[in-house]
Amino acid sequence: MAQVARDQHIAIYIVGGFVRDLLLDRPSLDFDIVVEGDAIALARALSSCYGGRITSHQRFGTAKWRMKDFGFLTSEFGLPADQTTIQNLKPEIDLISARTEFYTHPTALPTVERGSIKLDLHRRDFTINTLALRLDGRHYGDLYDYWGGLTDLRQGLVRVLHSISFVDDPTRMLRAVRFEQRFDFEIEDRTCQLLQEALPLIHRVSGDRLRHELNHILDEPCVCQMIERLAELRLLTAIHPDLTWDAWLCDRVAALPGQFPAPEWGFLAEQGWAAAKRELIYALWVVRLTPERASSVLTRLKVPRHQFDQILEAIALLNDIPRLVGAHPSEIVSRLDGMHPMARFTVYHTLAEEQSRNLIWIYVTRWAKITPTINGNDLQARGLPPGPVYRTILTALRNAWLDGEINTVEAECALLEKLITTSS
Ligand code: ATP
Repeated sequence: MAQVARDQHIAIYIVGGFVRDLLLDRPSLDFDIVVEGDAIALARALSSCYGGRITSHQRFGTAKWRMKDFGFLTSEFGLPADQTTIQNLKPEIDLISARTEFYTHPTALPTVERGSIKLDLHRRDFTINTLALRLDGRHYGDLYDYWGGLTDLRQGLVRVLHSISFVDDPTRMLRAVRFEQRFDFEIEDRTCQLLQEALPLIHRVSGDRLRHELNHILDEPCVCQMIERLAELRLLTAIHPDLTWDAWLCDRVAALPGQFPAPEWGFLAEQGWAAAKRELIYALWVVRLTPERASSVLTRLKVPRHQFDQILEAIALLNDIPRLVGAHPSEIVSRLDGMHPMARFTVYHTLAEEQSRNLIWIYVTRWAKITPTINGNDLQARGLPPGPVYRTILTALRNAWLDGEINTVEAECALLEKLITTSS
């Protein structure tokens, strides 16, 4: 890219997180490329030299360069093909024309205009994210630091660029905590004061945007520490008064497994564990609330409907647990059958008491798998006319197995005879 930009006499920079992380010795492959000029024209030039497809947004001056493979890095530039860096490169790179954004009113989507790299960097959240490395020609490797990012990086400070930064975009308050905790930095004093003043503005942020930022936090390794800090800064309760944090939650979140639990739990692996874990954390967050209060929090965060329903299912089950302890297995099974695996796992993870936990564990590992040896085909072979009676009989047989009323195939057949007689 540096080469093509040089040939085209276009200044290009790699900016933001990549530069910050490089200077912190945490190199990443998350490239954020800013072009001082026409990013779309540069993307086209790149694809005509090295292949790949371009998609662009004329209005925003942005382009995406998608590549099938990076073979040219080996053939043209002699990089070893087996280098893990090449293998881990994302198949697409975003190129952005330097732009200024201004907000017509707080929390609105920004209005976009073409601008210089300096102004482009000025629209960013914190000084540590305003560093740019120029890439084209003889400028390759020059560090541009217009907003004091390097000093703040060295001092470990998260600092906004101007006093209305949180007013422009209140989600930056959550981002400030994420960077502070991730790098073991501190939110600079004045920034912290501005954050406190801007707390009420959180009300104006949509649920989707809040959830998007919270999701990033839930994906971090030190999630508990981050949420604790959000709570300390009163950011959680600014989002919703019932969004609180305590040692109970911290223990539960910290104890979540690092990968999908045993297959018996029935999670669908396609979703990916990171996404499932996020759903679990939201569920744990509100599971001790009443359904009404939990719904209010979930509505504020605009949690998707399926997830919302799973959480309400978990709350209902949690409330039923005292009744289920000591109930017959068949009663427990009829309560747990058909529930979403996420709801069952949430309640299992919520319960501290061994006896109640075991109830779900035994269901998942044993009872859920118990079925009668007789099935619908057998009933049909017996000449029983198909209808709701099939379900009644098969459920009764299963319940009898579950509750230990029958233990042999002979006893099952005898019970079947009885059931057929009483049903006719
Ligand atoms: P991460 O390492 O978590 O990906 P990042 O710094 O790369 O962090 P992104 O969320 O990927 O963060 O955003 C890329 C860049 O865009 C950031 O470095 C930041 O400068 C800018 N940015 C993102 N969100 C905002 C925002 N709400 N306000 C201002 N600038 C933002």
